[in-house]
Amino acid sequence: MRRTRGSKTEVGVIRIPSLSAIDWLLHGFSTRTGGKSRIYRPSQRAGELNLGFTASDDKASVVANRERFLTAVTGNPHFPMVTLRQIHSSLLREVMARDATLDAGGAKADGMMTSEPGILLAIQTADCIPVLVADRKRQAVAGFHAGWRGTLKRIVENGVGRMRLAFGSKPEDLVAAIGPGIGACCYAVGDEVLAEFESQFSYAAQLFCEVYDSDLIKERYPLPFLAARAQGHGKPGPDLHLDLVEANRRQLLDAGLKLNAISVVGDCTSCQTDRYFSYRAEHGFTGRMLSAIGIRP
Ligand SMILES: [Zn+2]
Repeated sequence: MRRTRGSKTEVGVIRIPSLSAIDWLLHGFSTRTGGKSRIYRPSQRAGELNLGFTASDDKASVVANRERFLTAVTGNPHFPMVTLRQIHSSLLREVMARDATLDAGGAKADGMMTSEPGILLAIQTADCIPVLVADRKRQAVAGFHAGWRGTLKRIVENGVGRMRLAFGSKPEDLVAAIGPGIGACCYAVGDEVLAEFESQFSYAAQLFCEVYDSDLIKERYPLPFLAARAQGHGKPGPDLHLDLVEANRRQLLDAGLKLNAISVVGDCTSCQTDRYFSYRAEHGFTGRMLSAIGIRP
């Protein structure tokens, strides 16, 4: 996976070759490097690129960080950007330039799409999985926020269907990128999450594994071994881990995208807190990244 940094701003932005190859497309996944925020790592010399209006960071830093990110992605620090008030739903909105906002505002939803040039759709995450989709032929884009609840509600699979309705998108014309998020290595979930997924997906077993945490070595076992899971309460045993990246890759495939049209960054935010914000690894005291996609003006 090729990674590029904005040369002047030193903002760490990940770009995906298959999306960069589309000349009318703008996109980028932010990292935590190259910003002005100092609240989350006060001991560090370099500031961090917190792009979310979190309670602990000051607004001026976040605004400056967003301008740096917009410059890195679009070349214009004041490029109109649309964000959402994300609520772990499967709500999708078609957005227009008038939906652009400078602050934490935005409609309640977890996915958005547009065919309007000159606006950037930005999904905010710090462990959840950001998914960007572009229709090469119809010139339309979409961004999705997929935590376990949104994934369970098939936000990405339904989102591709909505692109078909709104823009006439054909799945074979779509390219998608799954950005950095918490990996199966770190994403321990409760048994109730497994039960929910089993009720919705025939392939649920392929999304979970058991992890025996022996400090340095994490041994993984596939789900068939679940038969041996301790049923008692409070018993120490293996953790159940969910692979959200694979779950969303699967939804893109089921929606009709070609295997080679889906790119996966693959980095685990929780494993790499030097590079990414991780809500879980940092116990909620952390910044937010943005994953952005748009059509050039
Ligand atoms: Zn990890």
